[in-house]
Amino acid sequence: MVLLLFGPPGSGKGTQSGKISHWLRIPAISTGDMLREEIKAGTALGKAAKSIMSNGGLVGDDLVNRMLAQRVSLPDCEHGFLLDGYPRTVEQAEYLDGVLAEQQLRTPIVLHLDVPMDALVGRLTSRRQCPSCKRIYNLLHQPPKRPGICDDDGTRLITRKDDSEDVVTERIRTYDELTRPVLAYYQDRKYHQIRGDRSPGYIFEEITGILEPVVAKNGSSCCTKALGKGQKS
Ligand code: AMP
Repeated sequence: MVLLLFGPPGSGKGTQSGKISHWLRIPAISTGDMLREEIKAGTALGKAAKSIMSNGGLVGDDLVNRMLAQRVSLPDCEHGFLLDGYPRTVEQAEYLDGVLAEQQLRTPIVLHLDVPMDALVGRLTSRRQCPSCKRIYNLLHQPPKRPGICDDDGTRLITRKDDSEDVVTERIRTYDELTRPVLAYYQDRKYHQIRGDRSPGYIFEEITGILEPVVAKNGSSCCTKALGKGQKS
């Protein structure tokens, strides 16, 4: 099963992608996380991406496409995967179709988390992330138990550099201009719009409701396990 998680910055993709990946036992691949790792490692790709990301723009299609193709060719993606933050342009969506055809994977299922634009800036500027396990917190709605510390592994939480108000505004503008048209590309395929302005638990319930029939029908090894008792979390 290949899942594409869509939504503007701050729509809760990261939180849902962690939950879905755990439930279905498929890797969750965030191109944003991969690019941040490249920057941290000081690679040529990281150097090319750094200033673009800190200004809220999009890294070039060629670079991101190549990075993505390499990642999904790894053995853990054999039975499917979830993409968070890719494709972000129509060109990337076309490229992904080619990659999926090559790997003989099925048509992706698109989950679109729709959140009103005016709610996004506040959500993003109050977001904190664990740099180690990548868990996302929100100081307003989902704070950590101990201020500034990850509940899961005790790491000190960080604010992403691109979560400052001016960069957030640019990221939302970029989404509207370049990524929103990608939704039209998938509209007549397996496309599901989900209201993202609700608590993560409700959203996840809706997502499992959408995916359970597909999981039952597919019966692939990762997904059969997902239907077992107590797997949702
Ligand atoms: P995210 O963590 O998904 O919000 O991504 C953070 C930043 O990484 C974005 O604002 C872009 O600059 C860059 N980025 C992530 N994914 C892509 C992509 N698919 N195409 C181009 N740039 C990307």
